[in-house]
Amino acid sequence: MNQKTLVFAKPDGTVRRYAGARLVKAFIDSGFSFEFFGEIKPNRNFMSGKHYVQYADKPFFRPTIEFVTSSPIVTMIVVGEDVVSRIRKMIGPTFSDQAPFDTLRGRYGLYKGVNLCHASDEESAEKEVKMWMDEVIALDKTKDYNKLASEYVKKYIDFQTIDVMRYRELIKDMLDKKIRVEDLKIEMFSLIKKESDFDEDTIQLTTESIINNILS
Ligand code: ADP
Repeated sequence: MNQKTLVFAKPDGTVRRYAGARLVKAFIDSGFSFEFFGEIKPNRNFMSGKHYVQYADKPFFRPTIEFVTSSPIVTMIVVGEDVVSRIRKMIGPTFSDQAPFDTLRGRYGLYKGVNLCHASDEESAEKEVKMWMDEVIALDKTKDYNKLASEYVKKYIDFQTIDVMRYRELIKDMLDKKIRVEDLKIEMFSLIKKESDFDEDTIQLTTESIINNILS
């Protein structure tokens, strides 16, 4: 069945350029196409009041909203045969550090819910595509989104990258109280900076929101 799904690279998958390029490349290599592809920054109200509203009473809700709004996010409407379930399978389970290494979240996501990307599930795909098209995405008929996706991959696939295990080691050291939260902040900022062409303020905000997320 030909379907559409909403995917966005979360800040750990957008600011860390190589991780984002790998995510997009995996979709291109699977033969999917893009009805939309672009870097956008949805506002906080939309993310908290619409996209993640079903989690409003969960303890991870606030840190998740803070995290996903800490930088622009690479947003995609992806089209293809059984695209919803195929992408869900490719990304793997929710927690990056527990996801198998042959899934995108296991390989490129950082830790826990800091997990590289969002992808609609079967239940939500239709609703999310409509909601994002209506309220967030401004389609430009003159743009070739498949070309933009390919150009993104070409631009960032050879970008400098840091092994996710390095982040996970540092996070574990912080959780085991071998290093202080403040030290992790400094260390993580400098690692993300190596993987990014974003400005330092954005990297700082994303770093802090990642750490708050992990601590929540
Ligand atoms: P998925 O993104 O795998 O479909 P959910 O829809 O259950 O997962 O949750 C949405 C997002 O909320 C997750 O991707 C993750 O970022 C965050 N999240 C969910 N559960 C937790 C949790 N127990 N702790 C921290 N963050 C969580």
